[in-house]
Amino acid sequence: MPTSIGFQDDIKSILIDRDRIAARVRELGREVAADLEADALHTPGDEHAGEIILVPILTGSIIFVADLIRAMPLKMRIRVLSVTSYAGAVTQSKEAKLASEIPSDLAGTHVLIVDDILDSGKTIRLVRELIQQQQPASVRTCVLLRKTIPEALATPCDYIGFDIPNEFVVGAGLDYDGYYRNLPDLCTLRPEVL
Ligand code: 5GP
Ligand code: MG
Repeated sequence: MPTSIGFQDDIKSILIDRDRIAARVRELGREVAADLEADALHTPGDEHAGEIILVPILTGSIIFVADLIRAMPLKMRIRVLSVTSYAGAVTQSKEAKLASEIPSDLAGTHVLIVDDILDSGKTIRLVRELIQQQQPASVRTCVLLRKTIPEALATPCDYIGFDIPNEFVVGAGLDYDGYYRNLPDLCTLRPEVL
């Protein structure tokens, strides 16, 4: 039996609070929607050709994408993808591996890949490459967070919510060993928890 099930005692600091996250996500939603809409309206071909498809990467993007899509007043479809990089109680990402099937009906569509955080860039690079093979009309990437490390900064990404220092963060969808995703604020953990 666990000795405690609250998470307040595990938090070292709040990096970005829920209000700042909410405001930025609304702003991003408007920006991304305007760009996608402009593209979709100018796609030659049949109706299907201009479709907007969001591809959220599980599991870290669930909170972000839920808020983002509600700030995008557009017709869109959602196709989730599962990619594994961390496994269990670790704080360093490893090789990104696809753990689900790539949708096969993306030709001619406008795809927006959504992830929680851009770290080594392996996840975004892998997913972008696999999606590109389906010959969509356009592919964009959007992350809530980007770590200010050389690998992340060198990875092309179209929309970024916040640049953050190179620290292991949880909350706003991000986990440690599967926990803390439901923390509303983006936080760092006390070292004794890790
Ligand atoms: P990348 O492939 O860019 O190295 O890593 C992307 C994935 O690693 C993210 O989708 C996320 O699941 C995980 N990740 C990277 N940095 C952090 C972090 O600071 N905290 C948490 N919880 N996950 C992270
Ligand atoms: Mg992830």
